[in-house]
Amino acid sequence: MKNLLDFTKAELENLISPKFRARQIYEWIYKKNAKNFDEMTNLPKAYRSELGEKFTIDLPQISSVQTSSDKSKKYLFALKDGHTIESVLLPMKEKSYDEDGNLLHFERYTICVSSQVGCKIGCTFCLTAKGGFIRNLTPGEIVGQVLAIKQDNKIPYERRVNIVYMGMGEPLNNLENLKKAIEIFKDNDGLAIAPRRQTVSTSGLSSQIKKLGEMNLGVLLAISLHAVSDEIREKLMPINRAYNIASIMDAVRNFPIDMRKRVMFEYLMIDGINDSKTDAKLLVKLLNGIKAKVNLIYFNPHEGSPYKRPSKEKMEGFRDYLQSCQVTCTIRQSKGLDISAACGQLKERYKNGNS
Ligand code: SAH
Ligand code: SF4
Repeated sequence: MKNLLDFTKAELENLISPKFRARQIYEWIYKKNAKNFDEMTNLPKAYRSELGEKFTIDLPQISSVQTSSDKSKKYLFALKDGHTIESVLLPMKEKSYDEDGNLLHFERYTICVSSQVGCKIGCTFCLTAKGGFIRNLTPGEIVGQVLAIKQDNKIPYERRVNIVYMGMGEPLNNLENLKKAIEIFKDNDGLAIAPRRQTVSTSGLSSQIKKLGEMNLGVLLAISLHAVSDEIREKLMPINRAYNIASIMDAVRNFPIDMRKRVMFEYLMIDGINDSKTDAKLLVKLLNGIKAKVNLIYFNPHEGSPYKRPSKEKMEGFRDYLQSCQVTCTIRQSKGLDISAACGQLKERYKNGNS
């Protein structure tokens, strides 16, 4: 049995006949949230049972949901083989009205998805790294996280959703399935999430960034930089020995991106490690000539980690310095901090059985 969520529309057209049914099936799954073939009433009955013999519509199962005080929701999903992954729904903007009560815009959401079960990269600050690497997610397992979260929250089809590949795993180590997921998301008969609303976050695999660029998908790029010298970065991210900072910056410079958009640089602030004025100065220098925006992230401490969260003053001082040098910089609001929404943390808590 094959999971229909695993296929781009073009692939599905090759798997079934007549071809035009692919479009109808897409609409049933992604626009009308069909859970089985019997609901697909514009398909002949015999055709539906034929489909049911070959295909399934498998969404990841919700194992638990935790809601944070800032309304972000963290999902733990169980996959078919029993492995678990996590995703986060982040409400970005509330519905708003003008003075006369006219609707200005609807709620906006960002959904953070996982791309692998575990991760091979082994960053020393990251909980996902601790569990090692288990396997890649299929395209359908990536897409299914968004579909399941939209359904669980009754988010209407037309409501704007952004996707960030910032959950568990290194998306560029699962490039083929990532590419398919991006294409499935963007399909107008499916969820119709434009690539410029999808941000791929990477630990900086330069050669894979190059490949992603060559695919010309139109997605946005986020680099988990976290340090400005190779010496410090190697300590935080051993992968830096294979792909140093210079190679990453080179890949970023060559990455095709919409002229109006910027490359995001994520910078995890760790007390006393990478948060000095000198670091800030070097960061400005490093980003010179690149249309960048920096997103500072508070290190989220977890049991057994040797690192500490920096003070608010340190964070704001770092941001202010960058801004004074005309580098766009924001501090990531600690959305979901009280539910451990940083990379891999919910799953670990469950494994330890203390929540
Ligand atoms: N593997 C990709 C995408 C997933 S990680 C990458 O590394 O970019 C998503 C983000 O979570 C990364 O920016 C990572 O630095 C961050 N993260 C990992 N552990 C964290 C922690 N303990 N506190 C705060 N952020 C963390
Ligand atoms: Fe993997 Fe990203 Fe965690 Fe590093 S931060 S171990 S790349 S998931």
